[in-house]
Amino acid sequence: MIIVMERNAAPEQLQVVKERLQDKGFKVHLSQGVERTIIGAIGDKTPALMELFETMPGVEKVVPVMQPFKMASREFQMEQSIIKVGNTEIGSGQVQIIAGPCAVESREKFLEIAKLVKESGATMLRGGAFKPRTSPYSFQGLEKEGLEILAEARQITGLPVVTEIMDTRLIEMVAGFADILQVGARNMQNFFLLRELGKINKPVLLKRGASATIEEWIMAAEYIISSGNNQVIMCERGIRTFENYTRNTLDLSAVPLIKQLTHLPVMVDPSHGTGKWKLVEPMAMAAVAAGCDAIMVEVHQNPSEALSDGPQSLTPERFGKMVRKIRTIASSLGDNNY
Ligand code: PEP
Ligand code: MN
Repeated sequence: MIIVMERNAAPEQLQVVKERLQDKGFKVHLSQGVERTIIGAIGDKTPALMELFETMPGVEKVVPVMQPFKMASREFQMEQSIIKVGNTEIGSGQVQIIAGPCAVESREKFLEIAKLVKESGATMLRGGAFKPRTSPYSFQGLEKEGLEILAEARQITGLPVVTEIMDTRLIEMVAGFADILQVGARNMQNFFLLRELGKINKPVLLKRGASATIEEWIMAAEYIISSGNNQVIMCERGIRTFENYTRNTLDLSAVPLIKQLTHLPVMVDPSHGTGKWKLVEPMAMAAVAAGCDAIMVEVHQNPSEALSDGPQSLTPERFGKMVRKIRTIASSLGDNNY
């Protein structure tokens, strides 16, 4: 439930309510707005308990949170979450652009593409070191060596790096190199992994599962947040439908929906969302117009020779053109008020 304090509630009154909630077994989360304080209380609420808190001095009203997700919801936290990554912010208005190859393939190639995408306007780098491949015989990633290359690219370009985390056993290692840990579509409901990621102090990029509903996806975020880490970024990357012209069906309605239902920043990945490079630029433009906070795309010097996801990878030139277009769209939009 949400406890809305009166505008002029005294700090002591807030303290008393907080302690009472804790006595009753609630987990308390304070949200200090400009005008008033809102207390998010997670626990077993009963009508009698709600009434009790409503009569406490300094309390304006008690509102039940109807959705199954609590800490991720807009009701719980009205202000948009802003995730700080290095010198950049996701969720504060400027559209961030994350670019790089599907996988880190070699030091030379990755350092080259990192510089190229930076020159064209990328604000963060991506590259998989541990790859979730459908076939065990496909390239699985450079693993630790890939992480070291990512860290070197960050040092050279100054851009933060995003890479995938596939297993709880690798969290310490991956978190030691990456700025954002990506949970891939295949792991969106790996609840052990989500819980462990809730214990670290690094942003988590949570991709939507290929068959996940919006609610299941937000519940996955709730696992991370309720375990202690509220730095979660939601990434729409397409869902599996009957359509097979595209690799997935990019659900752009997820952008305003996630914005309305939660306070979490939203990213869109039109590369995995479509599987076709020719669709990446138009869908990136549409995603920005729909109000997303970031775009993530795959870029490769020579897509036809990429070890994974070549058909959906942009060349550096095409990436540069896409950046110019999405920047034009972003600058023509006013504030997105959700
Ligand atoms: C990726 O970003 O390279 C990736 C494997 O993404 P997804 O989990 O969305 O398929
Ligand atoms: Mn990929």
